[in-house]
Amino acid sequence: MPWIDHGRGPSVRELDSPRWQPRASCTGAGEWLWFADANSPLTRRAVSICAQCPVRRACLAAALVYAEEFGVWGGVTSAQRRVLLNRLADGSNLTAILDEALAPQAHEVA
Ligand code: SF4
Repeated sequence: MPWIDHGRGPSVRELDSPRWQPRASCTGAGEWLWFADANSPLTRRAVSICAQCPVRRACLAAALVYAEEFGVWGGVTSAQRRVLLNRLADGSNLTAILDEALAPQAHEVA
């Protein structure tokens, strides 16, 4: 995967879901929050939980690498991820995209 910055990560190993999913803040929470209508209060709740999640970066990276089509991943909605995926397709570096996408206030759900 040439667009992964192997010096700064995430590494391909880190994207392996059994490594990060056990520490996910959404474990045990209602899955429907992450798959609600994009502009709903449920989605805003999911995004706020993601903001505090210790594995947010790996979650979003995996969603981009595996082109997850639906739901909120890493606090980023599917519509927001499509923009990021287009940048990846254009050859942008995954690490740089993650840095920008996970910066405070980068994605605010209306
Ligand atoms: S960032 Fe959000 S969707 Fe991803 S593991 Fe954490 S709580 Fe779950």
